[in-house]
Amino acid sequence: MTEKSSLEYAQQLDREDDLKQYRDEFYIQPETIYFDGNSLGLLSKRAEESLLSMLESWKQFGIDGWLKGDNPWFYFSEKLGEKCAPLIGADQKEVIVTGSTTVNLHQILSTFFKPEGKRTKILADELNFPTDIYAIKSQLRVHGLDPEEHLIQVKSRDGQTLDENDIIDAMTDEVAIIVLAGVLYRSGQILDMERLTKAAHERGILIAFDLCHSIGSVPHSLSDWDVDFAFWCTYKHLNGGPGSVAGMYVNKKHFGTSPGLAGWFSSDKNKQFDMEHELSAAPDAGVMQMGTPHLLSAAPLLGSLSMFEEAGIEKIREKSLKMTDYMMTLIDAELNGFGFTMANPRDEEKRGGHIFLEHEEAARICKALKENNVIPDFRTPNGIRLAPVALYNTFEEVWQVVKILKKIMQNEEYKKFENKRDVVA
Ligand SMILES: *Cc1c(COP(=O)(O)O)cnc(C)c1O
Repeated sequence: MTEKSSLEYAQQLDREDDLKQYRDEFYIQPETIYFDGNSLGLLSKRAEESLLSMLESWKQFGIDGWLKGDNPWFYFSEKLGEKCAPLIGADQKEVIVTGSTTVNLHQILSTFFKPEGKRTKILADELNFPTDIYAIKSQLRVHGLDPEEHLIQVKSRDGQTLDENDIIDAMTDEVAIIVLAGVLYRSGQILDMERLTKAAHERGILIAFDLCHSIGSVPHSLSDWDVDFAFWCTYKHLNGGPGSVAGMYVNKKHFGTSPGLAGWFSSDKNKQFDMEHELSAAPDAGVMQMGTPHLLSAAPLLGSLSMFEEAGIEKIREKSLKMTDYMMTLIDAELNGFGFTMANPRDEEKRGGHIFLEHEEAARICKALKENNVIPDFRTPNGIRLAPVALYNTFEEVWQVVKILKKIMQNEEYKKFENKRDVVA
């Protein structure tokens, strides 16, 4: 342990890191350690360039930008979908970049949740991000179904993680569709998506995964696993920028279903400008689009995704695991006795891209971290998320963060702050 506790050891890991050249491609504030890439990824020079190039095409072409230039706007959402496909293990036609996470879940449920006879329920869990639950409840109400009765939320045994057996036990013949996260936003637990999909299909149930915390951090094989649907945001691990356009996957076996929420961008691209009042639907995942794409909020993704394409998600995952493993080793050794509980799974198969610490004083410990130029992420009531990101963080920063945390605890630096969260935290 003594060897691993040294700064030299961290620096050695950085020298051996074959993704280290990417850090220079990001805008990193001097003297600041950014460990919040799982909430909002940092701006890269490539993302900035692709945004500027989108503005340039507007400048040069005006309306003709829809079909002219290196990246004609009319096909941009499809192009970005193709670039996301390797990150989730899907065919290019199964992926489209559109909407927001919340809107895409609404679209999936509007299109594929068809309560019939006994099968009227939606299965979710009690740990998912609130927006998913709000969307599900409102979709039930649209169908005239009472969420109290028709939304089933699988309970967590420990308040942090879900047991796949409990989820499978809840897959009754009353369930029409399942919505779960691929990686839980608090504990970072990875659910066994393959096993859950298989169990759902054996029971005649459709399954959708929210990949907000897994895309860009963890590899997926959605086609091989035969997952029905997935949706995700692109501003976390994909570094697309605040409010960047989200993504959606539809298994090709579901192609041909009319979108629940249709619009003219649901059209077959060759027919869209015929301006008919009868929709000629796109033959692929593109059908899930509604209106004109938010091109300025999609543009940074082109540059950002090129880094993922180059580095490869397997390599990114490998480094991410190495960083979180190193961080856990240091936390065990240095922060023992200060009242922290490590609430993320330790096992590699189950561990996502961030470390989740719980502490009674979490809110003000986060404020003290910020005062020390470390950017963490507070999750009410008592959670601290720390995400060392493979493309731009270093092992030395991991070492520094643990050292700073220890100093904050030893000197009780957190006590000068109120133990309350800010409006956004
Ligand atoms: C970040 C996140 C969202 C955010 O949804 P938006 O529509 O982008 O605001 C939804 N679900 C999960 C699991 C998330 O982590």
